[in-house]
Amino acid sequence: MKSKSSSTQSIALIDANNFYASCEQSINPHLRNKPVVILSNNDGCVIARSPEARALKIKMGIPYFKAKERLNRLGVVVLSSNYSLYGDMSKRLMNLLKNYSEEMEIYSIDEAFVSILRPKDKSLHPWARKVRCLIYQSLGITLTIGIGENKVRAKIANKLAKNINSSAGIFDLVRIENENDYLRKISVENIWGIGKQTSNWLQSKGIKNAKELRDMDQDEIIKKLGVVGKRLQLELKGNKCLPIEINKKPKKEIQVSRSFGKPITKLEDLTQALAIYAIKASAKMRSQNLKSSTITVFTRTSHYSNNPYQKSAHKKLINATNNTSTILKTVVALSKEIYSPEYKLSKAGVLMQDLTNCKYLQQSIINYESQEDSIKSISLMKTIDSLNKKFNNKAITWAIAKKPQDWTMNRNSLSPGSTTDIKKIPNIIV
Ligand SMILES: [Mg+2]
Repeated sequence: MKSKSSSTQSIALIDANNFYASCEQSINPHLRNKPVVILSNNDGCVIARSPEARALKIKMGIPYFKAKERLNRLGVVVLSSNYSLYGDMSKRLMNLLKNYSEEMEIYSIDEAFVSILRPKDKSLHPWARKVRCLIYQSLGITLTIGIGENKVRAKIANKLAKNINSSAGIFDLVRIENENDYLRKISVENIWGIGKQTSNWLQSKGIKNAKELRDMDQDEIIKKLGVVGKRLQLELKGNKCLPIEINKKPKKEIQVSRSFGKPITKLEDLTQALAIYAIKASAKMRSQNLKSSTITVFTRTSHYSNNPYQKSAHKKLINATNNTSTILKTVVALSKEIYSPEYKLSKAGVLMQDLTNCKYLQQSIINYESQEDSIKSISLMKTIDSLNKKFNNKAITWAIAKKPQDWTMNRNSLSPGSTTDIKKIPNIIV
């Protein structure tokens, strides 16, 4: 049986509700209490909905062109996705949450696991209410907080908090008496770490919910799912197996890719698009103190094309780098290898692979950069990054990115960068 200790460390999963829609409503008060949907890149399909839009039964994932007329008729506000806004709001959210926890693992753009010491015989509800209030006051975002002995149970508690109206956004799985009734409400496919295949296997064994999985024969789980399954069951029973990961494993690769607003057929357009993505990817690497020694570029036609095509090309570098100029030279050369004039290309991207932390990097003895060149290159990139950070992302860039572009993503209903661009700060008219 799990130990019902109440004076030890608990784990909470803190999750922002309807994050993208809430960010939009936060910077534009006119959108509050209105149905709002957010579209994916290139205004493709619905990827987020405010509660009001959910209530109108607007489906997730529905293509915009199919839903447009109905959305219009229902008076739904439709917005293009504004990732710089969501990224910035996420940073603000996580910075605030850090102050209210002992350890924190950022799990996704709008979710974090935190560990929190449970006061002896006292409820964590006051803490959770305080965190919810503070975030609502500071960012206008509503949170759901699920508390458990470990990560798996915190995830379950979060689901319960969302689905039980009387929970008011907070559910503590450690302090309830009739936990079996609650665990029965969570079907196996909704348990964190259970994929489609495992869920099908469990269902075929008659295991339908979290309570039944917790009580299932351990040997049978180990035989089928190995140590991962064993850990999951132990967590369901209340043991702590999965630690809070404060230092996330370093990234294996960085990708920047986009769909084009309209198909392209010219080499210069493909090269320009790849160059712009390479400029972004290089800056991303520098912000994480990484260098890449393999660069890949790729392109493809639309999935619906009658004349389909896809191609990639890569180059291994002798010296790992995060210098935009060096990377651009490689990317421009590679773009010629993947281009073919007879196809209408709808997407392209760059991948920075074989990433190494700059601290541990070894110089090649065949083609080493001179110390002086390396210092110059680092200080030039640092200057560009800090100017772009201070003014805006495009204050300093390479000439290729400044030429006119008629292939960029459709973002016809983009909200302003109110939290990231000084010129876009909302006006208050008294
Ligand atoms: Mg969320």
